[in-house]
Amino acid sequence: MKVVIVGGVAGGATAAARLRRLDEQAEIVVFERSGHISYANCGLPYYIGGVIEDQADLTLQTPESFFARFRVDMRVRHEVTAIHPERKAVSVKALETGETFEESYDKLILSPGARPTQPRLPGVGLGKVFTLRTVEDTFRIKDYISAHRPRSAVLAGGGFISLELAENLRELGLEVTIVQRPRQLMNPFDPDMAAFIHNEVRRHGIKLTLGRTVEGFEERGGGVDILLKDERPLHADMVVLAIGVTPDTALARDAGLKLGLKGSIVVNDRMETSVPDIYAVGDAVQVKHYVTGGDAVISLAGPANKQGRIAADNICGGDSRYQGSEGSSVIKVFGMTAAATGVNETAAKQAGLDADAVVLSPMSHAGYYPGGKLMTMKVVFEKETYRLLGAQIVGSEGVDKRIDVLATAIRAGLNATELKDLDLAYAPPYSSAKDPVNMAGFMAD
Ligand code: FAD
Repeated sequence: MKVVIVGGVAGGATAAARLRRLDEQAEIVVFERSGHISYANCGLPYYIGGVIEDQADLTLQTPESFFARFRVDMRVRHEVTAIHPERKAVSVKALETGETFEESYDKLILSPGARPTQPRLPGVGLGKVFTLRTVEDTFRIKDYISAHRPRSAVLAGGGFISLELAENLRELGLEVTIVQRPRQLMNPFDPDMAAFIHNEVRRHGIKLTLGRTVEGFEERGGGVDILLKDERPLHADMVVLAIGVTPDTALARDAGLKLGLKGSIVVNDRMETSVPDIYAVGDAVQVKHYVTGGDAVISLAGPANKQGRIAADNICGGDSRYQGSEGSSVIKVFGMTAAATGVNETAAKQAGLDADAVVLSPMSHAGYYPGGKLMTMKVVFEKETYRLLGAQIVGSEGVDKRIDVLATAIRAGLNATELKDLDLAYAPPYSSAKDPVNMAGFMAD
């Protein structure tokens, strides 16, 4: 069996490794457009900020090391330019030599990810307007900062990547402004919870220009003017566009695969596309939201890795099924941790659910043990049935642990009142005999 994989990072590399574990004989070829495989996308902002110092920590695997370990033919700087389902082959361009060729497959896995959304605005292509997706983008930003020592940056967009970059650029000493159309950062959070994030970033000197629409960029005075609708322009030495991501699915579209939300690839729970012998995984695919059951596009590393394994299992004769995404996520915002799972109250109501919520502000561990920190937890549930719909937590300690308990509770089908029955570990430095998760259950009762 010969399996060709498009994209050699989260979903693609996981699928390749799993295929090899399941089938010693399979021929596995991965084409990766960038110069790196299996790199740590999630670490890129921290390399820019100098928290991760060594480039090698971003690129844990090389094509050579991957081959030595898994006997997978990883071809970097190779772009797949077309899929020919009728003759089960892909067209490939070797980006370094310009050579083009066809590669046949028995099974094809698409894991092309998502690209930074680039609105058709004047000035988007300017040299000082950056986006962040790949290792190469990271080096570009890092090199620009080293060479030009910018004093200010404007980040367009207020999601995960923007916030992580904002923190890292601020730590490097830049004046940082975040501008975006929505009136709050981080849309997985309800406005009352996002307010805590706003306070934390403002406390660290980041300016928020919310509720403003960016209309374009113009070079001026060695920097960039950020043109705003009905407002005076902002000015900065550099700009990063991080207004979201769009599934990178031109290949799939041109090959006639069925597309869904935001141009994502429609797959079934076995990660099979609408075309036989073609599977798709990761940021490029449409999934079922585990809580609402609706179609969703959720761009996170965990789902991409799981889906890569599932596609590989099924190619090797198994019957693995993807159960849907909860969108569980966590982010460090300076001294704060903000985490969410499932849907927030706003999204639940938009999905037609009769949602209610409890909000509580417990300590991270027993109040009598020194160093406890306040956290704020919001648990969303369905009024009639108490079905757990989601949770959001902001605080500084113990946030990641509690969100994972709540994510697990949602997956296990617990309702909000059952949270009080969970038997959670307790010792004064870590928790409280009245753990916040238990307390949320009592409050919902
Ligand atoms: P990717 O990992 O993006 O891999 C897709 C690859 O396919 C790319 O390298 C691309 O070059 C290649 N490709 C595309 N088209 C072609 C083609 N035609 N031919 C050849 N190659 C092609 N998620 C989290 O859960 N937590 C985080 O903290 C987090 N932080 C992030 C920080 C940043 C800066 C970024 C960019 C993403 C972050 N993510 C995070 C998201 C996470 O990285 C993605 O959800 C995950 O990598 C998706 O996996 P994927 O395989 O679908 O796509």
